[in-house]
Amino acid sequence: MAEIRVENLHKSFGDFAAVKNSNFVVENGEFFILLGPSGCGKTTTLRMIAGLELPTSGRILLGGDDVTFKRAAERDIAFVFQLFALYPHMNVRKNIGFSLKCQGTPSAEINRRVEEAARILRIEHILDKSVSGLSGGDRQRVALGRAIVREPMCFLMDEPLGALDSEFRHLMCGELRGLHNRLKATTVYVTHDQLEAMSMADKIAVMNKGLIEQFGPPQDLYARPASMFVADFLGSPPMNFLHFNAGLARGSGEARLGDAIVQMPVVHEDIAPSDLALGVRPEHISFDDRSALRGSVYGSEYLGTTQIVTVNTDFGQIKARTKSTGEVRPGANVGLRFHADRLSLFDRGSGRAIRSALYEEGAHG
Ligand code: ATP
Repeated sequence: MAEIRVENLHKSFGDFAAVKNSNFVVENGEFFILLGPSGCGKTTTLRMIAGLELPTSGRILLGGDDVTFKRAAERDIAFVFQLFALYPHMNVRKNIGFSLKCQGTPSAEINRRVEEAARILRIEHILDKSVSGLSGGDRQRVALGRAIVREPMCFLMDEPLGALDSEFRHLMCGELRGLHNRLKATTVYVTHDQLEAMSMADKIAVMNKGLIEQFGPPQDLYARPASMFVADFLGSPPMNFLHFNAGLARGSGEARLGDAIVQMPVVHEDIAPSDLALGVRPEHISFDDRSALRGSVYGSEYLGTTQIVTVNTDFGQIKARTKSTGEVRPGANVGLRFHADRLSLFDRGSGRAIRSALYEEGAHG
C-alpha cells in the first residue's frame, strides 16, 4: 500500500478548466474522499490518478514514484466504478478472478485469492452462482472482489454506491468502512453525498468548480469550515448564515445584530466595515426568552428525538435543531441564543472564513 501525492494538478478541456491546481496527499492506508457537487472535477481528478486522463500540468506520485505519464496498466491501482459492469455469462468466481486470469496467474493462486476476497466480503456462499440473478448489494460486493483480488497499491472508487437505493447505501457505507478497516488500503473515493463522506472518510477534500476549497478530517471541516461553500455543503440542514454589515476591531468577540449583541469567537485582525455573515449550525441554537435576537416560528419538522424549527428573523430564515420535547407553535415569537464558541464568521465578498479564535485554537472538539 502507498501514499498518493498530487501536486499542482491541472486539467483543461479546451478553454474550460475542470481541475485547477489541486494539491493534496493521501497518506498510506487512508480513506480519502473527494466530495462536491456534480461537475466540480471529482471524477476528472480520480481519472488522472488512475491514468485514464492525462493532466494538462502537475504531477502525481504513487508510493514516491512519479506516475504522471505512466499508462493506467502500469500503475498498481484498482478502479471501482458506479456502473459495475460484470460479465453476465460468468459466475461470481470467474468474474472476481478474471483480471488475474488475464495476467496469466496460475489457477491455484487465482482460487486462493478469489476465496480470500470472498471471505472478506462475506460472499463465499454465492461464488458458484450466476451474477445475473444477484441483488444490487451482492453485485457491488462482486465488483469490490474484482478490485481486492488484484492486491493493488491503492483503490480508486467513483460513486460505487450510486446505483443503490438509499437504505442499502447506508448499509454498504458501513460495510465499505469495515472492509477498509480490515484491508487498510489507501483509498480515494468520489461522492457528491456529504453524509456518505462524513460517515466513511479519514479525510475529505471538498471541491467546488475545479478547486479544492478545504481538506482535512470530517470533524474539522464540519466544525471549522474554511468557506461558506464548505459550511453550506456539509450538514443537514446546512449552516445558517446571518448577513450583516459591520466593522470589527481586532480582539472583538461580539457582533451587533439589530438590537441584539451576539457573542462570537474573538477575531484576530481589524475588519473594515464590510458585508459579513455569521455562520451558526442548527444544533448550536437554543430558544431563550431573554434574548433580544427574536423571530417568528414559521414551522417545525418532527424527526423523532429532535425537531428542526424554522424561524423568520430580520436576518433571514434560521433553522434550529432542538429536542422534540419542547412544543413550538407556528407564529410564536421566540428569542434565539447562539453557542458563542461554535460560531463562524465569513467575509461575504470572498466567501472565506475570517481568522478567529475558533480557527486558531480549535475551540471545540
Ligand atoms: P459528476 O459527479 O457529475 O460526475 P464530477 O465532479 O465528477 O461530476 P467531472 O466529471 O470531473 O465532475 O467533470 C468536471 C467538468 O469537466 C464538467 O463540467 C464536465 O462536463 C467537464 N468534462 C469532463 N470530462 C470532459 C471531457 N472529456 N471533455 C470536455 N469536458 C469534460
